[in-house]
Amino acid sequence: MTTLTLALSKGRILDDSLPLLTAAGIAPTGDAERLLRLPSQNPDVSLLIIRATDVPTYVAYGAADLGIVGKDVLLEHGGDDFYEPLDLGIARCHLSVATRKDSPLVHGERPFKRRLRVATKYPNLARRHYAERGEQVEIIKLYGSMELAPLVGLADVIVDLVATGNTLRANGLVEVEKICDISSRLVLNKAATKLKHDALHGLVDRLRAAVETRRG
Ligand code: AMP
Repeated sequence: MTTLTLALSKGRILDDSLPLLTAAGIAPTGDAERLLRLPSQNPDVSLLIIRATDVPTYVAYGAADLGIVGKDVLLEHGGDDFYEPLDLGIARCHLSVATRKDSPLVHGERPFKRRLRVATKYPNLARRHYAERGEQVEIIKLYGSMELAPLVGLADVIVDLVATGNTLRANGLVEVEKICDISSRLVLNKAATKLKHDALHGLVDRLRAAVETRRG
């Protein structure tokens, strides 16, 4: 029997994936909080629980045959290392530019000549976004708590995920531009789609059916 390894992004995406994994018969059977590698309800499918930003790497190298990861991480990773057959419609949010609510940038004014300073954990995505409109910006790479950067003068704007908008509001920031919608995607290792064709496509079909049932 062909065995498959599925890489899952820990945190919000894992939580939102659980109903779909259960419907597809591959819910984790071990302690998903602590174990990095654990069995699923299906003896032929094992699960890896890893950081979202590492999922593309595991799938591209074939350490996982497939993965569940946010579109934000895929856009930042870039390239065409894997197939992306299914939008799971979970962990929905959008990627936006935000600034202090008292900033002149809110009204489209730019009272300085230097390059715009953009704090983000998505440097490639942010640079591409501004390059598309012909603007060179200074990217400041951060690993978390982006909302702080405009408040302490580290950056003029942030590029970050927004779901309810509560985090921005709580920190006195406002969205000035929506870049794109984000949701979690299923990605497949390219070689596995040939070498493990039947097993892999069987699992993709079960996940697709689970997504469609959930959409109603
Ligand atoms: P919210 O306050 O609901 O707008 O959520 C914003 C905060 O949650 C920000 O720190 C985001 O980086 C994070 N966030 C929102 N949606 C997601 C998601 N789908 N995946 C990972 N982080 C998210």
